[in-house]
Amino acid sequence: MTSAEIRQQFLDFFASKGHQIVPSAPIVNKNDPTLMFTNAGMNQFKDYFLGNETPKYRRIADTQKCLRVSGKHNDLEEVGIDTYHHTMFEMLGNWSFGDYFKEEAIAWSWELLTTVYKLPKDRLYVTIFEGDDKEKLARDTEAYNFWKKWIAEDRILLGNKKDNFWEMGEQGPCGPCSEIHVDLRSEEEVKAVDGKTLVNNDHPQVVEIWNNVFIQFNRKADGSLEELPDKHVDTGMGFERLCMAIQKKRSNYDTDVFTPMIDFVAKAAGIKYGADEKTDIAMRVMADHIRAISFVIADGQLPSNNKAGYVIRRILRRAVRYAYTFLNLKEPFLYKLVAVLADQLAHVFPELKSQQDFVAKVVQEEEISFLRTLDIGLSKLDQIREELKAKKATVIDGKTAFELYDTFGFPLDLIQLIARENGLSVDEAGFDVEMDAQKQRSKKAASVETSDWTIITEDDEVEFVGYDHLISTSRIIKYRQVKTKGKDQYQLVLDTTPFYAESGGQAGDTGLLVQGDQKIKVLNTQKENNLIIHITEQLPADLKAPVDCKVNVLQRSLTENNHSATHLLHAALKQVLGSHVNQKGSLVNESVLRFDFSHFSKVTEEELKQIELIVNQKIRENISLNERRNVPIEEAKKLGAMALFGEKYGEYVRMITFDDSFSRELCGGTHVSSTGKIGFFKITSESSVAAGVRRIEALTATAAEVFVDQQQTTLAKITELMKNPKDLVKSLEDLLEERVALQKQLDEYQSEKSKAIAKALKDTAEKVGDINLIRAKLALPSVDAMRQVAYDLKQTVDNLLLVLAVNVDGKPNIAVMISDNLVADKGLNASQMIRELSKEIQGGGGGQPFYATAGGKEINGLDKVIAKAKDLVQVNA
Ligand code: ATP
Ligand code: MG
Repeated sequence: MTSAEIRQQFLDFFASKGHQIVPSAPIVNKNDPTLMFTNAGMNQFKDYFLGNETPKYRRIADTQKCLRVSGKHNDLEEVGIDTYHHTMFEMLGNWSFGDYFKEEAIAWSWELLTTVYKLPKDRLYVTIFEGDDKEKLARDTEAYNFWKKWIAEDRILLGNKKDNFWEMGEQGPCGPCSEIHVDLRSEEEVKAVDGKTLVNNDHPQVVEIWNNVFIQFNRKADGSLEELPDKHVDTGMGFERLCMAIQKKRSNYDTDVFTPMIDFVAKAAGIKYGADEKTDIAMRVMADHIRAISFVIADGQLPSNNKAGYVIRRILRRAVRYAYTFLNLKEPFLYKLVAVLADQLAHVFPELKSQQDFVAKVVQEEEISFLRTLDIGLSKLDQIREELKAKKATVIDGKTAFELYDTFGFPLDLIQLIARENGLSVDEAGFDVEMDAQKQRSKKAASVETSDWTIITEDDEVEFVGYDHLISTSRIIKYRQVKTKGKDQYQLVLDTTPFYAESGGQAGDTGLLVQGDQKIKVLNTQKENNLIIHITEQLPADLKAPVDCKVNVLQRSLTENNHSATHLLHAALKQVLGSHVNQKGSLVNESVLRFDFSHFSKVTEEELKQIELIVNQKIRENISLNERRNVPIEEAKKLGAMALFGEKYGEYVRMITFDDSFSRELCGGTHVSSTGKIGFFKITSESSVAAGVRRIEALTATAAEVFVDQQQTTLAKITELMKNPKDLVKSLEDLLEERVALQKQLDEYQSEKSKAIAKALKDTAEKVGDINLIRAKLALPSVDAMRQVAYDLKQTVDNLLLVLAVNVDGKPNIAVMISDNLVADKGLNASQMIRELSKEIQGGGGGQPFYATAGGKEINGLDKVIAKAKDLVQVNA
């Protein structure tokens, strides 16, 4: 059975049991501050479990793109070293929201595995939760009894809290679980060692494939568990591990999920997979990591220096390092795998195929820049080696090793490897100390204390009325307190709200909550999944009484100008640059609009003008907003509405159209009622944000006018300064040309003057042994002139030792110049002398053995420099 068939059979099986099949949510999590990446199939249903939202279907199944490289579930260090943990993997799942429970879940998972997939029953084990005294949780005898119907009792094992109590994060839905493990060893191995003893023991061929979680609790902020009103089923099966079991392989990497990539890498490296453990690991790392990298980029997260962007950058660098060190692939290479992957998964995850070129380009640029850093890092290591040799030491201290790790992205094992090759070692304990210190620092920076919700009114559906109204009278559903960096704030959830919560690039509304005389500022409005959260610094005096919501009208309307202009810009970009343009990010608030999009070259002046022209034309056409709120997604797509990659859409979408034949987008934001309100659109900058991604910043309405006005004022000022010429540009060009000519003349004059000074100084040489010592106190216009005098003398005087003490615009400067032969034969050193002499002017400097300079603070020290110079020379001569 191919992996594609295995996936399809899973979905078909659960469809036949009354489950709705839904698409995978994006792998990058945008609306949940507690989770950067989707790490389990249940994430997208979190609001259902918590009772914040009513599920549309009671039974759902899907395959979900997951990533486990940060936070509570982090498998990164295992990946590639073992054969069954991935960074990105597909989790097949089936859910019951307050519908069926343990009995059906257990029966169906058994049926699917043993009759559809035909896995041998005598190679399966299941586990159930043994209970936990500390948490006051009893053994899950229910699950035990349901399993007993299907499987021999000696194959039902007890598991502890670590393995058999599943939690999404520090807080949130959780419950006991029942895992299914499969034993894939050979007959001989099975005979020799009882499989039971290997379950949950990190054996590569006795692995967990499926976890059935019975969600019945919510973990609260204080760590206590609270029983949920409804009981749910949440299951997750590792697709790649399932393929290994069904295809009878000993490693996930031997299944057709990975072989196309492994083969490609092996061929490129000219090394056979299976030839050596080290090169095997490297190939597995490449085949695995490219999946995480590609899907994350395709879902809209570019590599960067913080948060989710940094996580993905680190994964990419880990892959490059393995390729570089173990496969001798020293040129960008990973990006070539994007095409292999995109083709393989085109039918399941089309988002990658349709952005293949873009993703490959981003990966390639990252590789190029990291390979450069790697080179710099390696020469830095060379330098460290030299320094250690000079000190006759053999241990790279923890701080230095950590710097290599932190700035150059070298992992400890790579540093150790290179160290070993050079007969050195690394102070590992010291490295750990630095690492811990950094972890503490970032923990501190990110620390947020969130209290549990205090429920005021029972009401699970929040209504957003802000498309039609900017005021409402509302009741508080619940609130909680949040402490960040010493600041105390409240988060309020209201039953109805006109406040738009930050999302889709549009800033959150601000405004007021009014209760009697009390006016509470809403500082911002944000989303947590589908909850709309109002951020305040106070609570209403009467939590049970209604509050009047008032959105800041001016701010909202300026923001709408910018949002609608962004849609017009998007459409104009596609018209002018081509259909490859895709939105890669946007920001609209009351003052600016920023739009990032995929495009491979700089947008030219002419193109920008044309884009601006189209947008302004559409503004003047005063096109009315055509807003449709409940369009079936298929219909919207058929109508050509632009959807964003990495955005989660439901079955019904909101569609925003300005002119049927111009701009149509799926969008949840707020907009002007007609384009005329935008007034005027002006692009202020075009730049690059990342490989293949350009950014346009623009202004609308008054802000655009002010901008143009300022430019005009500047221009008027310049014209006036230039004495109102007929052709301003031409006169400026002339002026610049003239300046260049004058500078040239000045340089020539300066050079002649230096020569004259040098010539005069030549005759003042004193003999000290064979040395011609010239000492002079001068006033010169610049340090550059001092340098010129020194070099002129070097050319004309043999066995020269020159000391200049120069007053440059009231500042003391000194220079020492020594003939090359004196440096070579007598070991004279200008740098050393400068260090001594600069003490007299309270300064410092340096240079090379033949020429060095210093600047200082004490102008009266110049005479002393001259005097001291002679002493120094006499000692050295
Ligand atoms: P393990 O103990 O093997 O790490 P887990 O307990 O973390 O697994 P769950 O969180 O229960 O696993 O996830 C459900 C299923 O997803 C597992 O049974 C397994 O098949 C699969 N799975 C979990 N983590 C990974 C991973 N990093 N790569 C591939 N599959 C995974
Ligand atoms: Mg795990």
